[in-house]
Amino acid sequence: MSTRAGLKDRLHYNETFNCVQCGYCLPVCPTYETMKSEVHSPRGRINLVKMLAEDKVKAEDLREPIEKCLGCRACETACPTSVQYGKILEGAKEVLEFAEQKSRAQKISESLIFNQMFPSKRWMNTIGNLSWFYQKSGLQKMAQRTEITHLAPLHLGKFESVLPDLPSPVERKKRARQFKAIGSRKLTVGFITGCVMDAIFYETNRNTIDLLTKAGAEVLIPVNQTCCGALHAHAGKITDAKALAKRNIEAFEKEEADYIVNNAGGCGATLLEYGELFKGDIEWESRAQAFSNKVRDISQVLSELDGLSFTKEVNGTITFQPSCHMVNVQKVKDEPLSLLKQVKSKGYREMNDKERCCGSAGIYNIVNYEDSMEILDSKMKNVKDTNATIIVTSNPGCLLQMKLGIQREGLEKSVRAVHLVDLLVEAGAVSK
Ligand code: SF4
Ligand code: SF4
Repeated sequence: MSTRAGLKDRLHYNETFNCVQCGYCLPVCPTYETMKSEVHSPRGRINLVKMLAEDKVKAEDLREPIEKCLGCRACETACPTSVQYGKILEGAKEVLEFAEQKSRAQKISESLIFNQMFPSKRWMNTIGNLSWFYQKSGLQKMAQRTEITHLAPLHLGKFESVLPDLPSPVERKKRARQFKAIGSRKLTVGFITGCVMDAIFYETNRNTIDLLTKAGAEVLIPVNQTCCGALHAHAGKITDAKALAKRNIEAFEKEEADYIVNNAGGCGATLLEYGELFKGDIEWESRAQAFSNKVRDISQVLSELDGLSFTKEVNGTITFQPSCHMVNVQKVKDEPLSLLKQVKSKGYREMNDKERCCGSAGIYNIVNYEDSMEILDSKMKNVKDTNATIIVTSNPGCLLQMKLGIQREGLEKSVRAVHLVDLLVEAGAVSK
């Protein structure tokens, strides 16, 4: 970032001129709604980026407004001039990451989390296994009884109580690398199992494989795949995100898959943008774009296969909280709803403003807990207005956030949150 021209490139300065200051994006921006200030709006943030590129403000003037952005990309959908806000945001985060003075301890802990833990299957399995031990050994009950969880940093104690039941280390080890389609094979798909998804939501991954095979897909799970890099890119660690993307591209290039399937809206959005991530890279751009062209959300593949029917009634009234990355970036809207409407239940109730971010946004709810809870409370008001008893989501982060929302509202006895995939299995999915 040594020259002004280099800084302008990194900040996507030319893109900022596409913003005509109309303000159409303001009503859809959750942080503008809750924080009520221009610098927490898309337009305000774009202006700050432009001013940094022109040397009219310092990088530190951007830090708080940029860090408070959810990255939900709702502003892009409302923008009449198609400003690529995601690109501007990612550039700003990279510049801020570069400019930040970090202590040695901070550098070591970040390197451990981003470079050692997230990319490593072994680390992720260990986290999953330790969480299983915590749940099953009685430690969790004791910790909750003594309220020691309240002492955990960054409100992490709030999150441990909403984790799903984890599989034992033995079950975790047993998973095969290839699953044959039940009946005649209509497609072959590579399944991106994710990092946190596979560590904590292993059951949802297992159910994903179950649905795909029953619907007529052969499922391949490349061994060398890794974390998609979403958390790295959102933290401005673009070099690290690219390194992970390269590993995934290479791993899936070895498989003859028609699609690369994911079941986490946030990861899906990142995978879909690998092509963009390597724009201008002679060696990687076309390989990354070929990968991105195959990326599909599980709901898209199940809808296309049309190979499932549902045999059991789910006891409750359903509402749907889609992941904002799935809607705003992947543009997947109809497929989850069409699957949900095939499920027998006490009915489906549409939520007001259902596409507005719930405040989860990667690790936003951990690092900006209070702001995230304000956004969540506004979402829960809309949930309650539906009188639904089952909140279905399409992303693990949204699922945990919805569970937190249920707890905050004291609705644990009457309302539950569930991933779309798990609900379809609960609804007795069988091959047609
Ligand atoms: S990404 Fe979301 S939170 Fe950030 S400016 Fe756009 S609408 Fe607002
Ligand atoms: S809607 Fe688009 S052009 Fe209008 S202020 Fe927002 S970002 Fe700028």
